[in-house]
Amino acid sequence: MKRISSRTVFMTILSMIVVLGIAAFVVQYFVKANDWVTFPGSPHVYSGGNISTGSVRDRDGVMVLTNGERRQYADDELIRKATMHLLGDRYGYIEAPLINTYADKLLDYNPITGVYTTSETGNILNLTLSADACVTALQGLNGRKGTVGVYNYRTGEILCMVSSGTYDPDDMPDMDTIESDSYYEGVFLNRFTRSTYVPGSIFKLVTAAAAIDNIPDVFDRSFYCEQETIIGGEYITCEQYHGSISFGTGLVKSCNIVFGELAVELGPEILTRYAEAAGINSAVSFDGTTVAEGNFDLSGAGDNDVAWAGIGQYTNLINPCQFMTFVGSIAAGGQAASPYVVDSVETPDGVKVYEAQKQMMDRTMSESTASTLTEMMRNDVVQNYGTYDFPNVYVCAKSGTAEVGEGEPNAMFAGFVQDESYPLAFIVIVENAGSGSAVCTSIAGDVLYACMESMDG
Ligand SMILES: [Zn+2]
Repeated sequence: MKRISSRTVFMTILSMIVVLGIAAFVVQYFVKANDWVTFPGSPHVYSGGNISTGSVRDRDGVMVLTNGERRQYADDELIRKATMHLLGDRYGYIEAPLINTYADKLLDYNPITGVYTTSETGNILNLTLSADACVTALQGLNGRKGTVGVYNYRTGEILCMVSSGTYDPDDMPDMDTIESDSYYEGVFLNRFTRSTYVPGSIFKLVTAAAAIDNIPDVFDRSFYCEQETIIGGEYITCEQYHGSISFGTGLVKSCNIVFGELAVELGPEILTRYAEAAGINSAVSFDGTTVAEGNFDLSGAGDNDVAWAGIGQYTNLINPCQFMTFVGSIAAGGQAASPYVVDSVETPDGVKVYEAQKQMMDRTMSESTASTLTEMMRNDVVQNYGTYDFPNVYVCAKSGTAEVGEGEPNAMFAGFVQDESYPLAFIVIVENAGSGSAVCTSIAGDVLYACMESMDG
């Protein structure tokens, strides 16, 4: 009896192991089959390192990439250049995870039947991007390095993301040219997603949010700017002599004395809390891309460092895509949608095999703070740059010039359209453009109109 009983136990354990093993395999199969089929090097799917099936088109139906034996890019040279950092080149110099992220969807592999899509062309990936807006941005940058991003802060759709320098993937310059021509400096980097910049004055929006919430009489305060002051034993300097100046005018005139003094009064703890809430130290992720994290770190910082940090200098860094979502959150009452660039993937017959789901980002500030800041940013546009570049559009924004050591400072412009028909947030960065905000405002205006035209369909 004893022997039979122990044998039964043994058999029971053995069969349980078999059942569990099969279950584990089945689960793995359904979870990972797509990965196994689309692993890099699979001859079914890849040709010379690139996926060889499926195509990509923009929000207006313009074909920007057709995969095959050899990648076929858009017919238009400017579209090829403007979308190259998103789609990647033929040789893998550009880190562009988009296509591989959707490899299984483009292929339409079915784990139950084990059958690939029977069509020769594969599936179609629809971008949220407007190729026309991207070309407009690239033309605006006009041979200068920088980046432009525009997205819908209500839905999360990215309509424009451009990184310059760039090149035509159908006519790549040789390596000698790339190494010697300064336009190509950092050309393999997608500046929108993978670079970080010293924010300069656009960071004053974060300091302003902290001041609105934590200094009750901040709007009644009067500051005095003599173009320089001493904080923490060292100089804080301003671009201009502003004399007696209020908090509101301080943002419009971008007075360093106002924001340096406010930063020190707020202190490192509160400033860090607002920078964290703004997402400066966080990485946004979408469609296989994780953007570079910025930097806001006041550990061990003295008063002078804290003042410069509140002005947007010190060791501050922002990622353009992330900061675009931050200004979007101001427009959206403190909480914006999370950005994405793939709207859907469909079969040639129009059956959707993937559709983007809207997701919200974390709240960056209260609704009332967002509304106060919106008003201040509107004043900035009206009083500073004028509405010339934005006729009939309610644009709220903040410009900045960021000192970057050698060379002319970078020009930056971040803001949004306050209009429920066109809920667009944007960032424009032109490297070494000097202090002229005009460069950025005209690019922003042209690109916003291109986006709105595409939204009107
Ligand atoms: Zn000043």
